[in-house]
Amino acid sequence: MAIAKVIIDVSLDKEFDYLIPETLLPQIKVGVMVRVPFGHSTREGYVLSLADSSDYTGGRLKPITGLCETRANIPEHLVTLGRWMADYYCCSQEQSIRTLLPAAVRSGKIKPRIRRLYRIADVAAAESFVACNGTKPSAALRVDLVKALLAHGAQPADSLKSLVPAFSQSGLNTLIRNKIVETVEEIVRRDVFGDSHVLPSKPLPPSADQKKALELIGKMLLGETSSHVLLLHGVTNSGKTEVYLQAIAKAREMGKSAIVLVPEISLTPQTVRRFRARFGDQLSVLHSRLSDGERFDEWNRINNGEVQIAVGARSALFAPFRNLGLIIVDEEHESSYKQSEAPRYSARDVAVMRGKLEGAVVILGSATPSAETSYNASTGKFLLARMAAQVDNKLAPRVTIVDQRLAGPPEPGKSNFFSKALITAVFDRMRRGEQSIIFLNRRGYARVMICEECGFEARCPDCSVAYTYSRQRETLTCHLCGGVIPAYELCPQCLSPKIRYAGVGTEKIESLAGAVFKPARIARMDSDTMRGADDYEAVLERFRRGELDILIGTQMIAKGLHFPNVTLVGIVNADLGLSMPDFRAPERTFQLITQVAGRAGRGDIRGEVIIQTHNPENETIQYAAQQDFDGFSKFDLEFRQLLAYPPYTHLIIVHFRGEDESMVVEFANGFTAELQRYGHEGIRFAGPSPAPIERIKGKFRYMLVIRGSRLKLLRQALRVLALHRQPPKGVEVYVDVDAQSL
Ligand code: ADP
Ligand code: ZN
Ligand code: ZN
Repeated sequence: MAIAKVIIDVSLDKEFDYLIPETLLPQIKVGVMVRVPFGHSTREGYVLSLADSSDYTGGRLKPITGLCETRANIPEHLVTLGRWMADYYCCSQEQSIRTLLPAAVRSGKIKPRIRRLYRIADVAAAESFVACNGTKPSAALRVDLVKALLAHGAQPADSLKSLVPAFSQSGLNTLIRNKIVETVEEIVRRDVFGDSHVLPSKPLPPSADQKKALELIGKMLLGETSSHVLLLHGVTNSGKTEVYLQAIAKAREMGKSAIVLVPEISLTPQTVRRFRARFGDQLSVLHSRLSDGERFDEWNRINNGEVQIAVGARSALFAPFRNLGLIIVDEEHESSYKQSEAPRYSARDVAVMRGKLEGAVVILGSATPSAETSYNASTGKFLLARMAAQVDNKLAPRVTIVDQRLAGPPEPGKSNFFSKALITAVFDRMRRGEQSIIFLNRRGYARVMICEECGFEARCPDCSVAYTYSRQRETLTCHLCGGVIPAYELCPQCLSPKIRYAGVGTEKIESLAGAVFKPARIARMDSDTMRGADDYEAVLERFRRGELDILIGTQMIAKGLHFPNVTLVGIVNADLGLSMPDFRAPERTFQLITQVAGRAGRGDIRGEVIIQTHNPENETIQYAAQQDFDGFSKFDLEFRQLLAYPPYTHLIIVHFRGEDESMVVEFANGFTAELQRYGHEGIRFAGPSPAPIERIKGKFRYMLVIRGSRLKLLRQALRVLALHRQPPKGVEVYVDVDAQSL
């Protein structure tokens, strides 16, 4: 008996068994889309696996109705990856399968773009038509049409019109009726690049570090190394991208294809241009601004083997290459690689898995690798290549730490956000015609307690993360252990009453800057002021042309921008992120400062960075100021090991939400109790307790935090519970495996 296990959109994580009719046997494979009877209707679904027998006992099995011939199939190895994702990330099979295919391909609504061409059907007939009618005025138009088609080959109507000014469709139709001309249809690609051209580039002679990295990658591609994953660790401008380009060329020489993942925000025209310059038509670029039609075409070009390299954000990981040799994850530490809705997968981690399943090499590149990746490189699970210096031996910027508590108002009643040092430095730049960037750390999402007098921050003594303040309850809560204490009225360290329970609003700082830096020309750039990509490009263009002295902004300006005339970067509230109730706060702060500092002095003049902080003696700030990644990494890993955080444990958060708080709590408690039966030594459960933001849009939010070094069995139990234990109406539950924030 030939059985296909099929997953249907309404499956609720259940595979259904269907008989494969004899006639369809050769075509039915894993990943193929089929039509099947379901209840009283017909549904479409994907074949997930094939079997010889069925455990189904509910009656006779029904046969598959037919294939969905016009619809995209999923390459078999991607189905395997999808099944792994569903298991690992505790999501349903349908969610996982849906992630593998772009909606534009899955929906079946998008069709290839067709163009109709006219061409000569019969050359002999055409030539004799011209010979016989060449002098007849009544046939002049038709003769011209035939001559044009004979001379230029197949043409669409538009081009024929310009070749034959007297063009008429009826004349053409007559020729078609007489079988002299015929029509053909061809698929035309919706061209993402349109008419924009780039000059081709050649590989640069590699530096010593690049050479070493490339030799190692060469061995990896031949399968001669102990691991298939490489951490390429090098500061900005150390030549990592050039290594990627040459590594791809190596893979191509072996007939293999390559995927390059970049964070969406760095998928800029500059980056794309570099890849196009090297690989031209072999390249497909997948970014979020593609139309559905373009996305459909690009997917098919990859699936048909017309292109061999894909560059894109997170979802490009599922490009349907069949002979994948290389996956590159640039800026592997970026949190945007983790998808925030189901399946909550990490593109970096799934890349490592896809590489393993398909025998492809995976390169993780970063100037500030994540703790997880650094750890894997230190244990030998990943290989390591370092790129020590900037390619052009540029001097690293000079960094100063300024104590923001002493910043003091320049005039009474005005801002104390800008230190004298920063103000002086900005005015220096304006005098010299250079530019400055002022980076404002984004306001935190949670309210935390800070003493304005001594800089003290309230932290849980057991977990070392900041307490979250609740105004309603006047309490401080730790979200890792659930500990609660009354909110302070006096600072416990210096007994000052000047304690603050909030982050600083960035909007306010920006308006203050106008007054402090008068008459500077200032533009502000953050997610409030930037509506779309055009706004963003417009401001950057003005800045690039020197029409602005100061660019003020949040995270948006931290990445990848190259402005040779920027010689000063000021970072205000450098420590704000550190007070977030999140064990990744030090890591994020270090990454951010490093990135922002990288904006200073990209031209010929040595850059300067001024870091303003309430915590000048904080280790993270100190390491960041010295740009000492190794020192920081050691410090951060020791802290995580001591407190059993990832990468020393796995972290899973189960979220419970709903408008009726008591229902949410009751369900969460029952769920937790049931799950705890699968717990064992070494697994810690914390909660369910209120999330850092307890209520959003009327919904109460609770979370259960699970940590442990061996979570495999627990994850299986959790998956079954989360997918199949129906919460009461109005309550939602979802699971976040390897959660990025806490
Ligand atoms: P990263 O990706 O680490 O920031 P890039 O690969 O972008 O570094 O290199 C930084 C700059 O140095 C780029 O302008 C690049 O063209 C140039 N570059 C990289 N490798 C070399 C090389 N081997 N020889 C000369 N210039 C190089
Ligand atoms: Zn104090
Ligand atoms: Zn705690």
